[in-house]
Amino acid sequence: MNLRDYIRDIPDFPKQGILFFDITPLMADPKAFRHTIDTMADRFRSVGATKIMAAEARGFIFGAPLAYTMGIGFVPVRKPGKLPYKTRSVSYELEYGTDTLSMHEDAIAPGEKVLLIDDLLATGGTAGGLVQLAREARAEVVGMGFLVELSFLDGPGKMQSIGISYDALLS
Ligand code: 5GP
Repeated sequence: MNLRDYIRDIPDFPKQGILFFDITPLMADPKAFRHTIDTMADRFRSVGATKIMAAEARGFIFGAPLAYTMGIGFVPVRKPGKLPYKTRSVSYELEYGTDTLSMHEDAIAPGEKVLLIDDLLATGGTAGGLVQLAREARAEVVGMGFLVELSFLDGPGKMQSIGISYDALLS
């Protein structure tokens, strides 16, 4: 099954000059969605993760069913002000400005092995924020997975510079 067939290219979204990869057709197709989760599970089963961390909103779409399939826990990473208990947060650089990600401070135990998941690697800003948050929680990042990597952007280099190897189903 070629998962690329289930991703729709939308020119000039969310602004002029950006080609957006719309993953909603993949999610709407039961075979493609199941194939995505099962393939990720096969690739990451051997890394020994006990939790998946993923950021809202599209990270949840793949992270939660993957955690369920792998039989491990799921830790939601959210924008500030959304989580009800005590949180730890990191701010990370975007192309223009900064953004912040938060998680519950007791969601990951020190030394715990985590797998980081998102739908798409573009500049690597979001992925870098997730890594920073995991490291601040003193977790061991044992893998990182994406459905799509955009290899013409800075993401791959950024991941290399922070010492994270990752796996993308489509590049
Ligand atoms: P980055 O932080 O690497 O620049 O951008 C990746 C984040 O933005 C991901 O969390 C992803 O959900 C979102 N994103 C950026 N571009 C796209 C795109 O073309 N398609 C989708 N589905 N998400 C995108």
